[in-house]
Order: sequence, then C-alpha cells, then structure tokens
Amino acid sequence: MKEQLNKIKNNILAELERTETLQQLEDLHKKYFSRKSGDFSRLIRDVKNVSQEMKPAVGRLINDVKKEVEESFDNIKKSLNNKMAGTGESNFFDLTLPGVDQNIGTLHPITQVKNDLDDAFKFLGFEIYEGPEITSEGYEFDNLNFPLNHPVRESMDTYWIKQQTTKKGMEKFCLRPHLTGASVRYMQTHKPPFRFVYPGRAFRSEATDAGHERCFYQYEALIVNERISVAGGKILVKTILERVFGREVRIRMRTGFFPFVEPGFEIDMECLNCLGKGCSVCKHKGWVEMMPGGPPHPNVLRAGGLDPKKWQGFYINIGLDRLVMMKYGIDDIRLMHSGDLRFLRQF
Ligand SMILES: [Zn+2]
Repeated sequence: MKEQLNKIKNNILAELERTETLQQLEDLHKKYFSRKSGDFSRLIRDVKNVSQEMKPAVGRLINDVKKEVEESFDNIKKSLNNKMAGTGESNFFDLTLPGVDQNIGTLHPITQVKNDLDDAFKFLGFEIYEGPEITSEGYEFDNLNFPLNHPVRESMDTYWIKQQTTKKGMEKFCLRPHLTGASVRYMQTHKPPFRFVYPGRAFRSEATDAGHERCFYQYEALIVNERISVAGGKILVKTILERVFGREVRIRMRTGFFPFVEPGFEIDMECLNCLGKGCSVCKHKGWVEMMPGGPPHPNVLRAGGLDPKKWQGFYINIGLDRLVMMKYGIDDIRLMHSGDLRFLRQF
C-alpha cells in the first residue's frame, strides 16, 4: 500500500510539473481525484481491505500524501494564474486568491539603536565620522595617553596583526580594541570647534560569556570647543539617553580612571527596570553603568594637533551592545551576534 501510494504521488507530481494550462490542471485533478474513476480515490477505497490493526497507520499515510498533493495542485494553480495574468494570455485575474507571502527582514536591534543615536546626535548638530577597523598602536594607545606598560597593550586583550615599517618607523598594527583612536584621526584632519560621533565595531581577545564578546559595538562622541563644562557633558548624555529610551532618565557621574580623559567619569543611569529600587538587572544597586566619559586628556588634544590651553572637550564612550541589552531587556550579549532567527524575529 505504501509503495503504491508513493508511486501514485510521484506520478502526480511529475505530471504537475508538465502542466501548462488551467484546463490541463483540471483534467489532471479529475484523473486522480474524481470520485468514481480517480486513481487516488480508488486507492482510498482499497483501505477497507487492509487489516484492522494497520488501518489507522494507512489512513494517516493517505491523508499526508493527499495533503501534500493538494498543496502542489494549489501552488501550480496560483502560479499558472499569475503567469497568465502577467502575459496577458488571459484577462482572468482571480482577485480572491491569497497573495504570496514575502519574508520581510527587520533591522538588527543594534542597527536600530545605532540609527536612533545617529538621529539624536544629528539633531544636536553632530557629524557622523568613521575610522578604520585595522589601525596602529600609535593611534590606539600612544595618542590616547596609554602608558607603555598598560596591560591592554598585551596580546591577552588586543588582537595584534603584524609589524610593518612605515613613514613613522616600525609600527605595530591591530584590530581596534576601542573606537577612541578614530577621534584623534578626526582632530588631526579638521579645524575646531567640532562635534562628531564615530560608531563601529571593536575587537578584544576575551573569554566570552553572557556579558562579554570578542567583537562588540561601541558608539563614541566627542565635542570640542573653547569652553565646555562637565555639566554641559552631563546634559548631553542625559539628552541623548532620553531620546533613545523615549522617557525621562536620571543619570549620575562618579569619578573613574581612563587614560584618555582627565578627569574621568563613570556615567550611570538609574535602572529603568526598577526605577532605582533595586532588581536583578541592576544587581540591586538601582543604577546601571552606562559609559565612561570626560574631558580629553591634554596629551590627547596635543596628539590631535590642538592646544590644550585653548581647547576643551567632552568624550562619551557608549557600549552600544550594553545599551541595546538595557533597552530591550536582553540578558546575553552572545545572542546579538548569533544570527539566530528566533531571536532576531522579535525586533
Ligand atoms: Zn534595577
């Protein structure tokens, strides 16, 4: 019985392939499914000869095959109708046929929040700039006031690629471990005052877990003018976060050490999940670390060709992945780069 069913199914599918008109399709359907003389109908009638215990299994099999074949008939009918409507061979166009479903993708949550940040900064007059992902020790560490013995220079954190002799002598190249190097490139090639952002990927040789990835997204901003106060920087951060989260947020700044800023700040946002009461998202502190920031260190301004006595500034270094996780309540950073459609379809 099973063999017979398979054979008849293959015959039907093969004949369907050759069908070119709706009339042929109708004839084919009659040939197999007409109540009296259809080959398939006859097979169904034969079920009564099957032994009692085999009947349920055979019945299921017949139903499965019938469903598959009927679907093929429907598909061929749809495509024949569309073809005829398209070529003008027929003036018949069946408006009652359901449309063909298109799978429409959505933007990755990181891209969505990056676009939100772009909009928020553009609204405040910032330019969007892009630096290279492969860069040099000079740009990533020397220019940014990292001491020669700073541990992130070691291979355990930074992906070093090669050494090469350039105009500056022997240079070490790496995948950028942060974006900040791009800010000096911008300063060297533009005239102050300026305000700009430079989003992108950064790379670090780290053990991955729910909070760490080897490749992650950052979003940095630098504003340089003759006079910028730390309070001005704080208002900037608050304005940007409120645009991204679409609600009022509270922020606080604590002192923190980062070689490229002086003084350096850790900028926290009041946990949006518990509104400061304490929950698992904020580890019961009521505040979530959002980003470091602060005025550029005089050595960094000098590396960018600016006189630190004349120019001041404010850096914001946003961990984009973390911001996205906070916005959507995602608890594992690795999901973002997994390409798992079950995850991505939620956005
Ligand atoms: Zn909380």
